[in-house]
Formats: sequence, structure tokens, C-alpha cells
Amino acid sequence: MSILDIFGTANKKTAKDASSHWVKCKSCQSLMYYKEIEKQQFVCPKCGFHMRIGVNDRINILVDKDSFVEFDAGLKPIDPLRFVDKKSYVKRVEEGIAKTGRHSSVVSGECSINGIGTQLVVFDFAFMGGSLGSVEGEKIFRAVTRAIEKRQGVLIVSASGGARMQESTFSLLQMSKTSAALARLAEEGLPYISLLTDPTMGGVSASFAMLGDVIIVEPGALIGFAGQRVIEQTIGSALPDGFQRAEFLLEKGSIDMVVNRSEMKNTIADLLGIFLDQEPMIAARRKEDSGESDMDHEAEYKQSKILY
Ligand SMILES: [Zn+2]
Repeated sequence: MSILDIFGTANKKTAKDASSHWVKCKSCQSLMYYKEIEKQQFVCPKCGFHMRIGVNDRINILVDKDSFVEFDAGLKPIDPLRFVDKKSYVKRVEEGIAKTGRHSSVVSGECSINGIGTQLVVFDFAFMGGSLGSVEGEKIFRAVTRAIEKRQGVLIVSASGGARMQESTFSLLQMSKTSAALARLAEEGLPYISLLTDPTMGGVSASFAMLGDVIIVEPGALIGFAGQRVIEQTIGSALPDGFQRAEFLLEKGSIDMVVNRSEMKNTIADLLGIFLDQEPMIAARRKEDSGESDMDHEAEYKQSKILY
């Protein structure tokens, strides 16, 4: 597998590429109507494959309806090194803005998750491969600071190729900056849930992404530091099947949970509720979501509740 297989096609062949209104599952090759797969939260109904999704869909799936308020959208990257590879950094940022309408690979803000106020940070892989630069680090720092002020938890949803090479050391510094901020959050006794999605690699997985009080991963997601091919070349032997995939990491104890997208919001709300000693708004939430009766939902909730 080449590095382009991992990162290069991420935003060309995701579920959002629906120009023909049909989506092909990358895993089982089934063809599905876009509107149908959208209702399934972009999880293949035939094989359970979790497709990559954009920031807006991710926020819609995770937070209470209309509860998300974005902060720090105006922070913009500068080019302190006047960095040029095949293109200049300035040009790459311009392309990222044209593609996403945003100035960074991070969207951050406040939301409620089943009624629990939370500081949310979501990475946008479409903006320079979700890379971590100075603006992204600062947005995470500010989200953590707001959480401490408001006595809330933090949820960071990662989807990233790693540190942003165009910012060199300025980018690497964000690893320690975000880690230090999260250490403060821990000292305050406030929770940090890290949700890793496909793919989470490099300097992101080597810093805040792996520092969660609970680390949750979507099924099948690729999580690692270096790519598989680089490791194989370095150690001179083949790696086992499923290496760097969510299920493999769970088996080895690197992460805490692999959770299906359909259960993600409730799982996160339950965890935040336990850490913060708050009761998630179950009945209200379920009623709003589907219009079914409270009784049905309570029974369903009790069945699906996580046990400790
Ligand atoms: Zn499938």
C-alpha cells in the first residue's frame, strides 16, 4: 500500500462524492443510493464498513440538534518559514480554503451531547490532510481553556495525516502545547474523550489523540504513527494482518473501545455523564430523534448502556 492509498484519496472517494447520487462501498463494492447511505450515517448496511465523512456530517451525528456554536473560526495560518515544496505553503492554504471554506483543518466550538455541555474539536481531513499546524494547536488549546472555565469535558475527533510539514518545528511544538493543555484539564479533574477516525497518523496520534481518558475508535479505522510500508522496510519483515487497524489496537490494549457510529453519540454522552456526574438527557433525546415513546427508549437504552 502506498502512502497515497492511505491519505491521497481520502476526499475523492468518500461518501460525499455523490455526483451521480450513487455510492460504492470501498469494502464490499455494493452500490447504494446516496440518500439511503446518508440515513445510515454513511455506514454500509451490507458489510458495516464505516465510510469517511466530512466535518458537518460528523458534527450532526455527534451533537444535539442545532447546539453547536463555532469558536475561533477567524484564526488563520501564517507562513513563518516561507515554505515551498512542489507548491508554496500559501498556495496550499489557499487551496484548502477553496475546498472547505475554512482557514484550518480544525473546527472547534461548544455543543451539547445528550444535554451535556461539551467543548468539541473536529478535524477536517479535506483541509491539507487534517494536518496539525499552529492554528489547529491554538484552537485545541482554546477549547481546553474554555472547558476548564466552564467545567466541561473535551471531545476531540481526529482525522489527520499528522504534523504539518510546511510549518516544521512550529507544527511539532503543537504536540507539546496540546498535551500540556490536556494535562491541565486532567489536573482540573475534567474528562477528555478522544475519538479517532480513519485515518489518524503521525504527530496527531503521537500527541493528544492518544492522551484521552477514554480513547474510542471507529471500526476499521487506520491508526498509527508511521505507515505500514515504512515500518516493514525498517524492520525488514512483514507485519500481521489488520496491523494499525482499530480492532488490532483494541486487542493489543492501545485503545479502549471500538464503537459503531450509530452508538457513538450515546456512548460518548454516557462516558461524559460518568466523569462529570451528570445524567444525560435520555428520554428527551430519544423522543426528539425518532418520535417513539419514552417507554420504548428507556428499555432500549438500558439494554445498550455500557457496563463498568
Ligand atoms: Zn459494504
